[in-house]
Amino acid sequence: MREIVLASANAGKLRELQHALAPLALALRPLSDFSATQAEEDGDSFAANALIKARHASACSGLPALADDSGLAVAALQGAPGVYSARYAGPQASDADNNAKLLAALQGRRDRRAAFHCTLALVRSADDAQPLLVEGRWDGEILEAPRGDGGFGYDPLFLDPELGRSAAELSREEKRARSHRGRAVAALIETLANAPGAR
Ligand code: IMP
Repeated sequence: MREIVLASANAGKLRELQHALAPLALALRPLSDFSATQAEEDGDSFAANALIKARHASACSGLPALADDSGLAVAALQGAPGVYSARYAGPQASDADNNAKLLAALQGRRDRRAAFHCTLALVRSADDAQPLLVEGRWDGEILEAPRGDGGFGYDPLFLDPELGRSAAELSREEKRARSHRGRAVAALIETLANAPGAR
């Protein structure tokens, strides 16, 4: 089984991707097996940040590497918080701080359209000139008040209009089937299954 390093310390992401990639006989190893350092995410797009993280993980491990970067883009805020989603309300901001800032920014606004985005980057080596990039997107609207207590981040404020429920009101399976990350993972699997030379 070929090994790939995942450029994330998040055990939940590792489990989810490990499960999803099992049919492709790829074993994911956490970056923490090789290095305690994290790459500095100073790119100006989800793709740029995913690539920075993947190259860093490959440099630390000598293995091919997979990284993801994600966030929320709000139409009325010209795409903010975007790549700053995790630290929208400041460097140490909690999910509650970020959600409160988002609600305040949209106070009285009628246009509440928003989308979650996720980019996955796969590199065969740290200096791979042809990295594989795939994206997933989840369109929705920002609610006037939080709903539900599942999920994380902006989930309680993100309404899936087709289901009429917030992301925090979905089961894990429902969220995986509809979410930006779930869609990006599906796109990665399809691309790898159809072009095995890509890995
Ligand atoms: P990261 O890509 O895991 O660093 O996520 C960046 C930030 O985007 C997170 O800290 C959350 O604030 C937000 N985010 C990304 N994906 C989701 C999601 O599925 N639900 C809610 N918030 C998310």
